[in-house]
Amino acid sequence: MSYTVTLIPGDGIGPEVTAAARTVIEATGFTIDWDVQEAGGDVIEKYGTALPEPALESIRRNGVALKGPITTPVGKGFSSVNVKLRKELKLYANYRPAKTMPGVKSRYDNVDLIVIRENTEGLYSGLEHEVIPGVIESLRVITYEASERIVRFAFETARQYGRKKVTVVHKANILKLSDGLFLDVARLVAKDYHEIELEEYIVDATAMRLVMRPESFDVLVMENLFGDIISDLTSGLVGGLGVAPSANIGTHCAVFEAVHGSAPDIAGQGIANPTALILSAALMLRHLRQPEAAANIEQAVHTVLSQGKTITGDLGGNATTSEYAAAVAAVVESLQDD
Ligand code: NAD
Repeated sequence: MSYTVTLIPGDGIGPEVTAAARTVIEATGFTIDWDVQEAGGDVIEKYGTALPEPALESIRRNGVALKGPITTPVGKGFSSVNVKLRKELKLYANYRPAKTMPGVKSRYDNVDLIVIRENTEGLYSGLEHEVIPGVIESLRVITYEASERIVRFAFETARQYGRKKVTVVHKANILKLSDGLFLDVARLVAKDYHEIELEEYIVDATAMRLVMRPESFDVLVMENLFGDIISDLTSGLVGGLGVAPSANIGTHCAVFEAVHGSAPDIAGQGIANPTALILSAALMLRHLRQPEAAANIEQAVHTVLSQGKTITGDLGGNATTSEYAAAVAAVVESLQDD
């Protein structure tokens, strides 16, 4: 059986890391028909937008996409393709695992957690106005519906991966109505998942505990802005951008991408670390119900990183992007033969 998946190489290091991810996926023996679509700064002249309709249509049609990073110029030009993508495709859940990896330098050796961020509302609702000159109001919207959807997603994730605890991160001591609602909904949803512990934790205390005892967390769920900040913190706990995968999940579509951006400083040199996108591809394979292929990719990445022989410059080695991808692909193939 094969699937058609939208592939958006993106710009900057995007084409290099997506090519690497393809090499590794091919090694699993699971066949994907790639529907390659253009998006990003380079196509604005051609389409008048960085996110052309054919790319969106392709994701809607196929339901699944693997996406390279796309540049967003600061303060000018087009607005973020990534934000637009989430909005247009109603990708309500951002899923970001953070797991310690052998061979990747970090202060911690025992992190294994998943951050789930609500992707559609909170302070990112885009509702801002000037009340009077010099006074701006930004509205933070929390709804029952979106809260219920994201908390249920978190508990379903915990159940799927045999996780023991979901921590609801909030600021209900101050934001009594909005985060009070989020918390009430979480308590209600938790009743449907007796085997999973519900923990409630205030966001500032969460930040401190993540730095002091990251191993004490399992699955964390929170609204949009808290999730934006906390999920970058958790990427930092396990060695940073080069190795952090993510998924944006909606009811009809899912887009898998690395957490890092287009890295214009190293683009075109063939030295980018493709680990984050390769691990995002593993998340995608699990979503496509190919758990064995996904696990083989994760194991192969761990093997190559812990051997430390074929690693990219950001991790202290001198392998090129394609040499690293070939090393991971070779291990994936050997795992299949076992
Ligand atoms: P960045 O993640 O692109 O780069 C930050 C630093 O990390 C750079 O020094 C870069 O060389 C390094 N780096 C990042 N990924 C790497 C990799 N795979 N291997 C080795 N080194 C890597 O962040 P930035 O410079 O702030 O952003 C550049 C552009 O990317 C911006 O236009 C930003 O808007 C965009 N961006 C896109 C996405 C996305 O498409 N999802 C996400 C974040 C940023």
